[in-house]
Order: sequence, then structure tokens, then C-alpha cells
Amino acid sequence: MSVLIVGSIALDTVKTPVEEHSDLLGGSASYAALAASFFSPVKLVGVVGSDFPESEFAFWKARKIDSGGVQRANGKTFRWSGEYSWDLNTRQTRSIALNVFEHFKPKLPESYRKTDFVLLANIAPSLQAHVLDQMDRPRFVAADTMDLWIETARKDLDTLLPRVDLLILNDSEAREITKETSLIKAGRQIRRMGPRHVAIKKGEHGALLFGEDEFFSCGAYPLEDIHDPTGAGDTFAGGIAGYLAGTVGTVHFTDLRKAMIYGSVLASFCVEAFSLERLRTLSMDEINQRYETFKLMSQFEVST
Ligand code: AMP
Repeated sequence: MSVLIVGSIALDTVKTPVEEHSDLLGGSASYAALAASFFSPVKLVGVVGSDFPESEFAFWKARKIDSGGVQRANGKTFRWSGEYSWDLNTRQTRSIALNVFEHFKPKLPESYRKTDFVLLANIAPSLQAHVLDQMDRPRFVAADTMDLWIETARKDLDTLLPRVDLLILNDSEAREITKETSLIKAGRQIRRMGPRHVAIKKGEHGALLFGEDEFFSCGAYPLEDIHDPTGAGDTFAGGIAGYLAGTVGTVHFTDLRKAMIYGSVLASFCVEAFSLERLRTLSMDEINQRYETFKLMSQFEVST
């Protein structure tokens, strides 16, 4: 089965303490779509401007990412610039230019409306809801969000949450939305706001998953070299949604546990290079090898 992904498509400028690169392909949907495409066909929804490289459309086609839902508008592509401090965890947004995103109203092609799996990657919750409104009862809806929407669009976000099967957010956002210091309390409280499952990302410390009576905790892959953390969260979400769409009919908690590991594996590759460069050359064999390493790493009863 395929997965519909809506989110931002951007040209990024990223500065780390050692390097700076500009005009990089970025955006939540770009990362999520490429990550998901390792497991299932993708239907991409977004908007780009006239400065957007045509070569990306050819790349998407080669990766079975249907770009029929990507609007080409007159004007400039959405631009974002961020700077990381030495821990490569704390990030400051240097600038943001909405450009063609400002008047973006996603309109789904007819062929997209019956897609069973949906990932509402990070964009304004009102746009995420607008996409869901056009869909014909999807089986599973995953959604990502960010601090900006918790602070500026809380009402829209609260309305969206009961329509979501899996909400993905990071630890600081989970604390911000609930005003809880404990992530365990926060995860449970967010579930009570509507989503059937909640995944809380903890960066280099892994992720937590909350279901009705179920709980799962996974570590992160112990990487020695991180070059650019941008998009790790979007890649994690894309890996989860793609894995579920490509391999699972009805989603059970056990499937979500595996999906979290695949998401973590994909995210660990993402940060090895700037932009989507590492994901572009990644192979399924490499993904499976790292998945097996994850399995070994988390075993604590070993028969001798
Ligand atoms: P992440 O590192 O997972 O938080 O995602 C980084 C990506 O999010 C970058 O490639 C940006 O282009 C994109 N981005 C930044 N701000 C926003 C925003 N307000 N809405 C949508 N996408 C954004």
C-alpha cells in the first residue's frame, strides 16, 4: 500500500560549528518522502516555486514518489535557515521565508484521495486538517508537529489530535504541550488529548511510544559522526509511515515497535551528511544491517 505525505518542501541553509551549506533540498515532506520510499510508494503533496530544481522531480520519479500533488507556483520556494551549536542538538532558526507557502492550500489529485496511510509531516495544523478533509477514510493517520504550532496554532492542533492514530513530537514539545516535566506523564496525557498512539523523540537518547496500555522505549543508534541533524525527525516519521504502509495491513502495537526501529535507523543515516545526501545513496541492505545491529544492541538476556 502507498502512503500520502504532505509537508514542507524547502531550500535550506544550514550552519554547523564546522560547515555551512546553502540552497540544500530540505523541508519536512522532502525528508519524510524519501525515507518512506524505501518501504512503500509515496504520494507527495506540497508546493515549490519557480526556483526549485527540476532535477528533484526526476529523482522523485525514479524513487516511486508520485509528485502529482506538488504544486508549482509563481514565486520563490519556502526557505529556512538554521544554525547548530556545538552539541549539534540545540538549534536556532536564523531566518524563514514562507514565499509560495504563504498562500498554499493543498488540493489532492483524485487519485490520492483513497490512500490508506497518511503522514501529515510538519506544517500548520490547519493545512494538515485540510488534507485529511479531502481523504476518503484513511486506515492510519500519523502526524508530526513542532513548537511553533503549539505556541501559535494550539486550537487547530487540539482539533486535529482526535483524528490522529500516531502523533510524533519531540521531548521539549511534549513537555511544552502538557506542562509536565515527566515524559511518561506527558506521553499519557497527550494520548488523552486524542491520538491513539504517541511517539516522543529524545534525539540522541532514542524514543518512547505510548499506546492504550502499552509502552515501548528504544535507543538511538550510537553514531560517532553527525554532520547535519536537520531532518532527522522528519526522516524518523517518514520511515515509520513508509514501513507501516508497505508491510502492515492492520496496525498493531507490535508493528509500531518495529516501525519505530526502522524510523530510528533511517534517521541515523540522515544525519551522516547534509540535506538528503546520505538518504539518496542509501541501500536496503544497509538499512537491514543497521536494523539487525539495533536488535543485538537491545538484547539483555543472551543465552551462552
Ligand atoms: P527537523 O530538523 O526534523 O526539525 O526539520 C527540519 C526541516 O523543517 C528543514 O528542512 C526546514 O525546511 C523545515 N521547516 C523549518 N521550519 C518549518 C515550518 N515552520 N514549517 C514547515 N517546515 C519547516
